[in-house]
Parts: sequence; C-alpha cells; structure tokens
Amino acid sequence: MSELVSGRLRIARDLAGLTQAALARDIEVSPAAVSQFEGGAAHPSPSTLARLAEALDVPEPFLVRPLVDTHEGFFRSLRRTAVSARRHARAVAHVAHDVALHAADQGLLNARAVPRIDLQLDASVAEIEEAAARTRDAWALPVGPVGDIVGLLEQHGVTVIRLPLSTAAVDAFSLPFADHPVVVLGADKDDRARSRFDGAHELGHLVIHGEQIWGLKEVEYQAHAFAAAFLMPATEIRDQLPTSVDWARLFELKRYWQVSLAALLRRARDLGRMTPSTYLTAVKAASARGWRRSEPVPLGSPEQPRFLNDYLDTVAGQSTREFLPAHVLTEIINAAK
Ligand SMILES: [Zn+2]
Repeated sequence: MSELVSGRLRIARDLAGLTQAALARDIEVSPAAVSQFEGGAAHPSPSTLARLAEALDVPEPFLVRPLVDTHEGFFRSLRRTAVSARRHARAVAHVAHDVALHAADQGLLNARAVPRIDLQLDASVAEIEEAAARTRDAWALPVGPVGDIVGLLEQHGVTVIRLPLSTAAVDAFSLPFADHPVVVLGADKDDRARSRFDGAHELGHLVIHGEQIWGLKEVEYQAHAFAAAFLMPATEIRDQLPTSVDWARLFELKRYWQVSLAALLRRARDLGRMTPSTYLTAVKAASARGWRRSEPVPLGSPEQPRFLNDYLDTVAGQSTREFLPAHVLTEIINAAK
C-alpha cells in the first residue's frame, strides 16, 4: 500500500468537517500526530491509515492518490461564510477536480482553452474591456448575448459544479488549477442572471489572474468589470442603454442580455449613459420596491453544470467511486439537478 499524501488528509478532514483534535480522538492518536500527517512530517502506519480512511468516510485509495497541487481558492464575502462551510466547499471542488482529471485521462474532457491575458492591478478599464472582447473572440462567440455560460466554461475545459444547498452561505469561487480549473457556483442563487454573472466573474479571474494570488479588492473589481464587459460588450450595448430610469426599456434589455437589472444599471453608469445621480435614483427606486432581494422579470432557473454528471454516469466515471468518496460525488450530482 502506498503512503499517505498529506494534502489528501486535509481535504478529507475538511469534507468531514472535523478538527484535527476531533479526528485524533476518533482514531486514538495525539493531535500532534494528525498535524504531522497533514504537514507531511510523519507518515501513518498502514493500520492508522486504514483508521483515518474509516473515520473520514473516504476510500483508502483516496488518501494515497497523488495530488498535483492544491489551491486555497478565493472567497469573496468572508464575513457571512462560516470557515468550515468554505473549507468543505473547497474540498468538494478538489474532488470535482479529481473527477475531471480522470475524465481527461480517458480523453473525454476538452483541453483547457481559457485565454490567459495578464493584467496588472492598476489596469485601465479599457484593458479589462479588451481582455473580455479578446476572450469572446478566442471562443468565437457571435455578437449579442452570451449563451449558456456554464456550458461555455465546460466546453473550454473548465469544470463547473454547483454547491449543495447545505452550503448556501458560500459564494461562487474558483480553484485555478493549471490543467483544468474548477469553477464553483453558489447554491443560493436561484437566479439565472446572478448565476451567469458569477460564472463570468470567475471566468474573468481565470483569464486575467490565472494562478496568481487572488483576494485583493482590485482583483475583485477587475473580475467584476470583466464579467460586465464579457456579458454586455460596450460597443453593442452602449446605445441600447437608457439615459433615464426607463424600466420598460431595462426589462426588455434584461430579457435580451440575460443579465440583472442591477448589472444593466451599473453598466449604464460605467459607460456614461446614465449620470451618477440618475443611476442613484434608479438604484434607490429599485431598492424601495424590494428588487434588491428579488428582481422583476425572472429569467428562469439558473444554468446547470452537465459535464461531471454525465461523466459520472459512464462506466469509466462510475469507476471513480473506487477512490473518491461516494457521498461527495452524490453531493455534486444532486446539486446540479
Ligand atoms: Zn472573485
């Protein structure tokens, strides 16, 4: 039997939601021993390894499977997200990555085809717009609204999962693996427009930030600006946007571009169609009507990831259950239904 891969232990522990101390108690070793296993400073004996797998409810092969690299992932709103929920979500994303690599080995996953356009932290708005336009070009997207953004990500070698409802407090995030990045969409977005924007935002990170360290305010701003430009190209939408608070027009644009009213208003302001004071009037009016929580003109259910569910249905995909925790695979499958 091979030896424990230390990074796997942390992933398994985060999946189980156990502290090092709780796990140590479960398998009757000292907390220091668990810490050393995770840090790679010590290796558990074969019998301890078996007890670890049992306590963590993962197949033993999961713990000894090579791990290319791990990512912390970046989470936007740390305030409202419990640390354990975030860690769990990150661990689920790593399992999704394992499935993706398995599919890639079978030649069933498209190669990563996400353009990389490095931008500095002080990049201009024009540079961000340009990066979004170049991404649309690279993917040969027609003019007009972007179709299924989840489908587009999957088509270009990005693995997309949706978090289960139990992690409703976790926002969208991504893990920028060099081979097959993983984009995780939040569970609480029963809102097609917001979910699409989240997908485009994460795409922005992958295009302009890649594997660089994320987590700065500027980086978030850039991903946001990228998403707006990607979904609503300036050259196409500028003249369509109203200069006044014209809700009928905005409703129509929401339906056409498949983006939220909030995103349209912001775009109208950022492209200089609306003055800052008109924008503010519109935002206040929307807020007074409760549209910040629930917008009018619903666009239907959010786009759903397909690739992993389809793959896990195949014979090859089913064989991943030999080394991946079945309950996590079920979690991934159910969240995308
Ligand atoms: Zn972000």
